Amino acid sequence: MADEDVLKNTARPVLYSEALKYFHDTKRKPSCPTCDYSGAWNLIVDPSLLKDKYAEDDPAFDPPMIVLLAPALGADRSAGSIPLLSLECPQCGHMEFVQANNVINHIDLGKGENTK
Ligand SMILES: [Zn+2]
Repeated sequence: MADEDVLKNTARPVLYSEALKYFHDTKRKPSCPTCDYSGAWNLIVDPSLLKDKYAEDDPAFDPPMIVLLAPALGADRSAGSIPLLSLECPQCGHMEFVQANNVINHIDLGKGENTK
């Protein structure tokens, strides 16, 4: 991926359901690298939308993911940022990050549509 693509912010929000689909399609491992946990991770979503509005097992639960902007410098020293989605191990709090644009491209280009 070219630097200018990495430095762009996200084209649009990423929904919780889209992140789950991406992790499913890309066969993300459920095990934590720092503890013995294996299972569902906490996806970090916009807390302003969670105030008693949804339970996570509610079919309507599909808030946007929080996007972290990691500061970055391109090869020409121009400043930008890398948009990241984050997930947390519910046992030890270890956090991992995924490029938000990878998820958007995967969903918008329909990759993995037949991999259910
Ligand atoms: Zn852990």
